[in-house]
Amino acid sequence: MKTSIAIYPGSFDPVTNGHLDLIERGRKMFDHLIVAVLRNAGKDPLFTVLERVEMLREVLKQWPEVEVDVFDGLLVDYARKRHAGVILRGIRAVSDYEYELQMALMNRKLEPRLETVFMLPGEPYSYLSASLVREIARFGGPLDGFVPAAVGERLRAKVTKTRSGAGIGAGGRPDAGPTRRKRATH
Ligand code: ADP
Repeated sequence: MKTSIAIYPGSFDPVTNGHLDLIERGRKMFDHLIVAVLRNAGKDPLFTVLERVEMLREVLKQWPEVEVDVFDGLLVDYARKRHAGVILRGIRAVSDYEYELQMALMNRKLEPRLETVFMLPGEPYSYLSASLVREIARFGGPLDGFVPAAVGERLRAKVTKTRSGAGIGAGGRPDAGPTRRKRATH
């Protein structure tokens, strides 16, 4: 397991400028950064895994050292498989800390060779979350500055489809709000 290889795991539903800020910082620190989309059946996402991967690949194409992949199961197993020695996570506010601490300590227990590195985003992104962005899109609010333009277009198309009923099953759950973190163990 190499500390030059890092995994940035998450839902990325969809990728936001906050995620990109972290990826930009991470790619300068590690030789190889794997952005790993969690295939999580229990989370009722707005975008399918394939759509999330497509959007990430589109916005990250200028950085060849950044790979986009999908994983399921335990993150430690995936890290071993990819020979990655570092997990990269972002901390925005104190509300992120408790969950992130618990997950990092559990991952360390499961695999002591794996280190979790936390990074802070730039200030403009410290209040930005994918759930908040989905909420704004659902109510037709402005997305500029929150997500890349291409992601904004796909978001608009997706919420319109979901509203008309064509997207049922692809998401559309009432959101818990920006501060509530609802995730799987990874
Ligand atoms: P998860 O379901 O694992 O929280 P997310 O896609 O919401 O997946 O987030 C993935 C990672 O990115 C987490 O570590 C989260 O804290 C971080 N993150 C999300 N949004 C931001 C942001 N605006 N700034 C910095 N880090 C962020």
